Amino acid sequence: MANMTTDVRFVRGIGEARAKSLQKLGILTLRDLISWFPRAYEDRRVYRRIDELETGESACVRAVVATEPRLSHVRKGLDLVKLRVVDESAALELTYFNQSYVKDSLRVGEEFVFYGKAEGTPRRRQMVNPLFEKEGADQITGRIVPVYPLTAGVTQTVLRKAVRQGLDECADELSDFLPEDVRREHCLCHVRYAYENVHFPADDEALAVARRRLAFEELFLLTLGLKLLRARRADVAGQQCEAVELEPFYAALPFTLTGAQKRAVEDAVRDMSSGRPMNRLVQGDVGSGKTMVAAAAIWFAAQSGLQSALMAPTEILAEQHYKTLAPLLERLGVPCALLTAATSAKTRRSILGQLQAGELTLVIGTHALLSPDVVYRRLGLVVTDEQHRFGVDQRAALGAKGDHPHLLVMSATPIPRTLALMIYGDLDVSLIDELPPGRQKIDTYAVNSGYHERIYAFVRKLVAEGRQAYVICPMVAENDALPDERKAVTAYAEKLRAEAFPTLRVAPIHGKLKAKEKDAVMREFAAGQIDVLVSTTVVEVGVDVPNAAVMLIENAECFGLSQLHQLRGRVGRGAHKSYCILVSDNEGEENKRRLAVMVKTNNGFEIAEEDLKLRGPGDFFGSRQHGLPTLRAADLTGDMELLYEARAAAERLLAEDPELAAHDALRRRITELFELNAGAMN
Ligand code: ADP
Ligand code: MG
Repeated sequence: MANMTTDVRFVRGIGEARAKSLQKLGILTLRDLISWFPRAYEDRRVYRRIDELETGESACVRAVVATEPRLSHVRKGLDLVKLRVVDESAALELTYFNQSYVKDSLRVGEEFVFYGKAEGTPRRRQMVNPLFEKEGADQITGRIVPVYPLTAGVTQTVLRKAVRQGLDECADELSDFLPEDVRREHCLCHVRYAYENVHFPADDEALAVARRRLAFEELFLLTLGLKLLRARRADVAGQQCEAVELEPFYAALPFTLTGAQKRAVEDAVRDMSSGRPMNRLVQGDVGSGKTMVAAAAIWFAAQSGLQSALMAPTEILAEQHYKTLAPLLERLGVPCALLTAATSAKTRRSILGQLQAGELTLVIGTHALLSPDVVYRRLGLVVTDEQHRFGVDQRAALGAKGDHPHLLVMSATPIPRTLALMIYGDLDVSLIDELPPGRQKIDTYAVNSGYHERIYAFVRKLVAEGRQAYVICPMVAENDALPDERKAVTAYAEKLRAEAFPTLRVAPIHGKLKAKEKDAVMREFAAGQIDVLVSTTVVEVGVDVPNAAVMLIENAECFGLSQLHQLRGRVGRGAHKSYCILVSDNEGEENKRRLAVMVKTNNGFEIAEEDLKLRGPGDFFGSRQHGLPTLRAADLTGDMELLYEARAAAERLLAEDPELAAHDALRRRITELFELNAGAMN
C-alpha cells in the first residue's frame, strides 16, 4: 500500500519513464504528485449539436465517425489525418496534424465525444485537432478538466493520468491532520474530497469548497509553523523596559496622534516591556506619520536608560529625521546626534565618545552606524526607516551591536497585509492605515502628450503662486540600448528650460550624480532655490519638500503602480493643494487600467493590491522569501479573509496546546514542511 512519501515510480501505472519526467517538475513523492495543483481549469461541459456550434466556440460534440480517416504525408514532418463525423443535425470535418495514430483509433460507425474549437462556417463546420474519447468515458470531455503547470517533456495528458492514478492509489491514506473541531468550525470539507475536487471538480461549487479547504490548510500550517518558531526564538531574553506612561511624550507633541499611530505605539511599547526582543514592522503609507511612532518608541526606551539608533537609507533622510526628532526629543531629555559620512572627523570622534559613555541616547545616521568603531553603552532599540533599502544582513549587523536590542522596522512600501505576514514572517506587523487629519487628496490626472502645453502652463501658474514642481523625466531607450539617465535628464531639463520654463529655475538630478552632489541639489530644492526639479526616480524615497505641489510623470507607462504611488507621495506633504499628472501615449489596456487606479485612489494599500493583481505575487516574493514553504493552493491576492481565519484558528489551537502535544500528525507535518528551511528561519 502506498503512503504519501512513496516514490511516484511505485505508483501503479506510472513507472520509470513517467517518473523521470515528473521529476523535472520536482514531483518525487505521491504527496508531491497530488499536491501539484492545476493552474487553471477548462470547462468542457458544454455539449452542442453540430448545427448549433458557433464559430470560435469550444464545445463537446457527440458524433459518429462517417468516413474512413485518410492519412496523407504533405511533406517531411507534416502528416495530416482527415475524416468526417456526423450527428443527427449535420456533418463536421476533422483535421489532425501530425497525429497519425488517430487513423487507427477512430473507426467508421463508432460514436465518440469530440472536444474542440468550432471553425469554418455553419455550412462547413470544421475542427482542428479535437480531443476525443469514447462516449461515456467522461475523462477528458464533458467535465471540468485540470490544466497543470508543465515543463518540457511533460504533457497535460501525462499529468492528468498520473494525478488520477495518484489519487486512486492514496484514497485511504489521505488522513486529515486538521483537527476535527477546526474543520467543523471553519466549515472545511474532508481532505479526500478536497484533493479529488481540486483536480477533478464535479462542478464549480465543489472546486471552490476544495480550494478553500486546501488554502486554509496551507495557511494554517504556515502560521502555526511561524508561531512555533517565533515562540522558540522568544525564549531569548530581551531588555525589559519599565512600563511608564506615555502621557509626557504625547503632551510634548504639536498634534494628537491618530488612532492608528497610537495603536502602533502601544504595540511597540507592549513588545518592549515584555522581556523579549521586539521584532516589529510598522507599515504605513507615505505621510501616515511613522516617524512619530519611532519617536515614541525611542522616548519609551530612553525612560529605561536604553540607547537607540535610527538608521535611514540616505544622508538627506537621516538629516531630515534629525531635524524633526532632535528638537522634540531633546526637550524631553533625550540627547540626540546625527552621524553620517558628512560628519567631520572631530565631531565624529566626540559623538563616538559620548555614545560609548552613554551620554547620547539617540544616534541618527546612515550605514555609517554600522561601522565597527561605533560602540554603544547600552543599545536597546534599533529603528530602521524605509527598510526595503536595507538588507536583512545589515539589520542583523546593527542588531548584533547590542544585547538583543529591540527592533522596529518602518516601511512605506505598501505591501498588502497578507504578503507582509508572509514576507516578514519573522516580524510582528503594525499597520498605520489612517492618515493624519486634514490631508488633501492629491488630484491625479492621466493624459496623453497632447496636453503638454496645458500642463506646462499649469506648472508656470503654480510656480508663480510660489510652489515647486517635480518632473520625472522620460527614459526612452534608443536603439535597444539602455537609456543613459544622465543624458536623458540633462537633455530634458535643457529642453524645458529653453522651451517651456524660460523664466523658471530648472535643475536636473539623477542617480549618476555622487551622493554629495545629489544631496546638494535636493537641499537647494528643499530650500526653494529650484522651481522645477527634473529627475529620474531618485526622488522616490521619503524626501520631504512640503512646498512641492506638482508631480509630473512622463512616460507613466514605464513605472509600476507602487512606484507611481511612491513618486506621487513626494507631493501633498504640506498645506498646499497638490497635483499628480501622469503622461502616457500608451493605449494598451493594462496601462490604462493602471493609470485609472492611480486616478481613482490615493490609498497605497489599495494600489498595492491592484499592483499585485496585475503583476502577480512573484515580484514581491523574489529573493525575499526567507525560506518560507511555497504556497500552492493559497492565492495571496484573494485569500486575505482566509488567512485571518487560519491565523485565528492557529492561535486558538496554540493557546490550548502550545507544543501541539495532542496533535501528533499535525506537528509532524509542520516539522516536515519547515525542516528544509529551519536554518533560514532561525
Ligand atoms: P511617513 O509615515 O511618510 O514617514 P512622516 O512621519 O514623515 O510620515 O509624517 C508626515 C507628516 O505628517 C510630518 O510632517 C508629520 O509631522 C505629520 N504628522 C505626523 N503625525 C501627525 C498627526 N497625528 N497629526 C498631524 N500631523 C502629523
Ligand atoms: Mg518617513
